[in-house]
Amino acid sequence: MTFEPHGKHLIAGNWIAADATFTSEPAHGPSHDYSIGTPDLVDTACEAAEDAFWAYGYSTRQERADFLNAIADEIEARGAQITEIGTQETGLPVGRLEGERGRTTGQLRLFASHILAGDYLDLRHDEALPDRAPLPRPDLKMAQRPIGPVAVFGASNFPLAFSTAGGDTAAALAAGCPVVVKGHSAHPGTGEIIAEAINAAIARCGVHPGVFSLIQGGKRDVGTALVQHPLINAVGFTGSLGGGRALFDLCAQRPNPIPFFGELGSVNPMFLLPSAAANRGPAIGSGWAASLTMGAGQFCTNPGITIVMDGPDADEFTKATTEALQGVDPQTMLTDGIADAYRQGRDRVSGTTGITEVLTSTCDMRNATPYLFSTTGQAWLANEALGEEVFGPLGLIVRVKDHDEMVTIARSLKGQLTCTLHMDGADTGLAKDLMPILERKAGRILANGFPTGVEVSDSMVHGGPYPASTNFGATSVGTLSIRRFLRPVCFQNLPDELVPE
Ligand code: NAP
Repeated sequence: MTFEPHGKHLIAGNWIAADATFTSEPAHGPSHDYSIGTPDLVDTACEAAEDAFWAYGYSTRQERADFLNAIADEIEARGAQITEIGTQETGLPVGRLEGERGRTTGQLRLFASHILAGDYLDLRHDEALPDRAPLPRPDLKMAQRPIGPVAVFGASNFPLAFSTAGGDTAAALAAGCPVVVKGHSAHPGTGEIIAEAINAAIARCGVHPGVFSLIQGGKRDVGTALVQHPLINAVGFTGSLGGGRALFDLCAQRPNPIPFFGELGSVNPMFLLPSAAANRGPAIGSGWAASLTMGAGQFCTNPGITIVMDGPDADEFTKATTEALQGVDPQTMLTDGIADAYRQGRDRVSGTTGITEVLTSTCDMRNATPYLFSTTGQAWLANEALGEEVFGPLGLIVRVKDHDEMVTIARSLKGQLTCTLHMDGADTGLAKDLMPILERKAGRILANGFPTGVEVSDSMVHGGPYPASTNFGATSVGTLSIRRFLRPVCFQNLPDELVPE
């Protein structure tokens, strides 16, 4: 049965309509009207979240695990409807939406089992030493405690896994923190049906309804009011550098500044080392083309740049990449605004001194096909803007003259979500020179693979130095992401009955 959105906000268990509405702009299918969020609604949701925290923040790990699993069940129960409205709103294909739904429910279930295991609490105990000289030591216990209500902003390119019930929401709920989501205006109907699933899980598990609210966007003052609200203790944000930086600055300017965990964009450079280029450059080129165009290039981990030694192997690599890109059909971009930004990014790159257009393409309305450009190491180093993300299927090959220039380029990089080495055994020396540099630049370093595709697991780090993220000590994917919404508290000489679970 087709899901018919009613367009209301979900505030602590109540569906609320506002007077003013905005109309969705789906890639295909019918548009719908949605209530525009207001600062007053933000206030009501935050008050309810604070109220809920006094119960939810002290719930048992088993209760929270049951709740996370119930959300996963409720999402799965609406699977076909979620896929239908999700594909209409985003233009992403059915297979992609189904995969993303599995990732979202898998993430909720992984976090449930992770908190049950208890290691995330990082419990420490220094037993009392009453006879220690010259001073006795008190009994000290330390545990990670939830921080209180959290605000979440999702991104347009992951309407499920990085949105309403995505990684940030799952991590905060696992930690014991109520969540207020600012809905993404590019997929408000998908947000609504996911909120319906979470609300059903709340009813099933008897959780305080203030633990989750969804306020639809439509106007930027909702997001502003949310990050400035005195009852919000941290923000999980996935989106653009511009939007993330604006909201990060607001968090820093608050009378009581709060952490802003912004997961932003990245160019995810790949270093194609000489032996790998000679032995299998064309195969790496066609693999790159597939990664670069996956989801119309609208991935934060899209590998936008390859750095390769100039010469015949670079020619072969470029030829194979071009041929593979020529076979890619036009793909629908997420929104008119993103298609516009893609065209602007393309113009910025093509207008830069020292750039050669290898594959000219088109981006009419919301349909994009890939572009490929090439430049020298010297031109790259002279134009800092070439290191900025172009969100879409655009690749840039940087041909360097030697080993030293490749190392200099690595040093010039800004913070990245990922860096990749394509290397064979004979490349180990150069790889060893690059590694200490890349480790300071990126959250994840790969060998002989492509960075699109982020495993949700215990060891994953999805973050990195600014501008990849606003907090290099954190990850937004994997079980370690729960840690963002906890803080350590020390309990000194407290009787056991006063120390939390
Ligand atoms: P976006 O335009 O920044 O939007 C993200 C959210 O922030 C939306 O809810 C948006 O509201 C809000 N927002 C943006 N600017 C704002 C401002 N100045 N004031 C208040 N609210 C503001 O990002 P997007 O287009 O959805 O996502 C694409 C970007 O996300 C790409 O750069 C991509 O690389 C990045 N991304 C990063 C990751 C990661 O994990 N690092 C994952 C996926 C995507 P509206 O609804 O009103 O637009």
